[in-house]
Amino acid sequence: MQGILYLCATPIGNLEDMTFRAIRILREVNLIAAEDTRRTRKLLTHFEIHTPLIRFDENCKEKVAEKILERLQAGESVAVVSDAGLPAISDPGADLVKLAIDNDIKVCPIPGANAALSALICSGLDTKKFLFAGFPPKTKKNRREFLQKLSTVEETVIFYEAPHRLKNFLEELSEVFGERQTVLARELTKVHEEFLRGKISELIEKISEPRGEFVILIEGQKISEVIEVPEENISEVVEKFLARGLDKKSAMRETAKRFNVSRREIYNALIKEQK
Ligand code: SAM
Repeated sequence: MQGILYLCATPIGNLEDMTFRAIRILREVNLIAAEDTRRTRKLLTHFEIHTPLIRFDENCKEKVAEKILERLQAGESVAVVSDAGLPAISDPGADLVKLAIDNDIKVCPIPGANAALSALICSGLDTKKFLFAGFPPKTKKNRREFLQKLSTVEETVIFYEAPHRLKNFLEELSEVFGERQTVLARELTKVHEEFLRGKISELIEKISEPRGEFVILIEGQKISEVIEVPEENISEVVEKFLARGLDKKSAMRETAKRFNVSRREIYNALIKEQK
């Protein structure tokens, strides 16, 4: 019999968000793999959980993953926890899940707190369709490309970002996305929880020295509202998308969506217009 790998949620601020099931599973497993053992030990002490801990973070995850796999194959059960929220969401865990699945080990979720979804449900933005984008890349060039790709999706987009990078990130977001309804969800489930809602420029004005943890949400692009040109002028629509930072292929793809035709038809129409 092989063991089970549990992906176990922990609170994102408020300890009352720990679930009964999470406490039971963390007590019952043979081993807990934690991103930060010191932090997790505090949580375990609070809930009187005495299971052994092993460090499992970005730096050691490959080596430790092999050890965990051996123990799972020997029939022991292991729970993965991150510092906060769901493991494997902008946190270590995903590679271990893949390794377990590749080795026919059962993987089991223990659901609970998550910053992105907690922010989304209180944002007032569209919750039917959304795109979780996680942390933006660190380098300016990669960040710009990342934002450009996201700027044309119609879904609500959700980001994580550290407080000291927030202002700069919002400025870049505004440059690429344009003026749109934006929400900053701060310190979720904690004493200073707050939601700042407004146009992105208003929020940039409002936050001078951001403190605490933030989720950033922005409404998806409403293509029909953003681009107002006569329906028949395809090249003008393509130009508008290019001006918003899209490459030619993406601009043609978005134009094709707008006119509800294939990209080939857009290409042909452009050639015709040029003649
Ligand atoms: N695994 C976590 C989850 O399920 O939400 C996310 C971990 S990620 C390393 C940390 C980021 O999540 C923070 O930089 C912040 O953007 C967001 N975050 C975590 N806790 C938060 C909270 N209480 N309020 C607002 N944002 C939070």
